[in-house]
Amino acid sequence: MTTLPCLSCRRPRRTGQYLCRACWFKIPGPSRSALNLRDSRAMARLRELHTQLTAGVPLTEIQVTP
Ligand SMILES: [Zn+2]
Repeated sequence: MTTLPCLSCRRPRRTGQYLCRACWFKIPGPSRSALNLRDSRAMARLRELHTQLTAGVPLTEIQVTP
């Protein structure tokens, strides 16, 4: 099974998830639900997440467009 690094803490995460469990549950509920959607905007949301992580936004303040 392939493991990829968590986008936030760089520890291994499961394939198909952006973050490890510990980091994932720090993200606000609405942002988590939005990131769980796999529609045409999924890549745009991932980019939003990525941009904020790169900018040093705390996990508890991550906001993505639903
Ligand atoms: Zn993590």
